[in-house]
Amino acid sequence: MKSEFLKPKTTSLPSAADEAESPKIDERRDSRLLAMPHLGHAASSADPRLESLAREMLIELGEDPEREGLIRTPHRVAKSLRFLTSGSEKEPADVLNGALFDADEYSEMVLVKEIEFYSLCEHHLLPFFGTVSVAYLPGGKVVGLSKIPRLVDLFARRLQLQERLTKQIAGSLQQLLEPRGVAVTATAFHLCMAMRGVAKQQSVTTTRAFTGEFLSNPQLRKEFLDEAGRDSDGGK
Ligand SMILES: [Zn+2]
Repeated sequence: MKSEFLKPKTTSLPSAADEAESPKIDERRDSRLLAMPHLGHAASSADPRLESLAREMLIELGEDPEREGLIRTPHRVAKSLRFLTSGSEKEPADVLNGALFDADEYSEMVLVKEIEFYSLCEHHLLPFFGTVSVAYLPGGKVVGLSKIPRLVDLFARRLQLQERLTKQIAGSLQQLLEPRGVAVTATAFHLCMAMRGVAKQQSVTTTRAFTGEFLSNPQLRKEFLDEAGRDSDGGK
């Protein structure tokens, strides 16, 4: 009764034992999956070396990479790691150039607040995530507002330190937009702190970077921090 009940499943999906005995079944399965039209993208982004390393890691962790839940895991891990580090291959100029506009008439602070970001800490390859607020004082040019979150993504999708992420956002805007000053504040929650038994599991880390007039003018800095910090404090 039990075997009859299971029969349809085992015919449509080879059991882990079958696959362990015969690697050919595994290959056939993979090629069949890759041939499926709805997985066409997966086929084009196949990443054999990274997938094989992810599989090795599973084995080293004492797992059986042939068990049902893990069969596609090396593929998924490779694909997600490529995506989460895809910012390493891009330059800030690719994001900002073409979206800089002359605006001599506007010189007040431009603030884009509470931009969500997700990154990987370079020490543990574990996520850290939170929000960034970015402000600048136009020096004759403004940037398309949607480009600032894209710039944040570009730097977040790298193996990062929160301190460096904050500085890179400020530095690249200063360099490409040439404003009178840039201010960046980031608040993030680090899973490497929360998951590994460090005492303060709920703690968040705040980092800041300033250039130009934000460095020389404390009143301006305070105005930025008051404005940027209002909602993030309120949300916690
Ligand atoms: Zn870490």
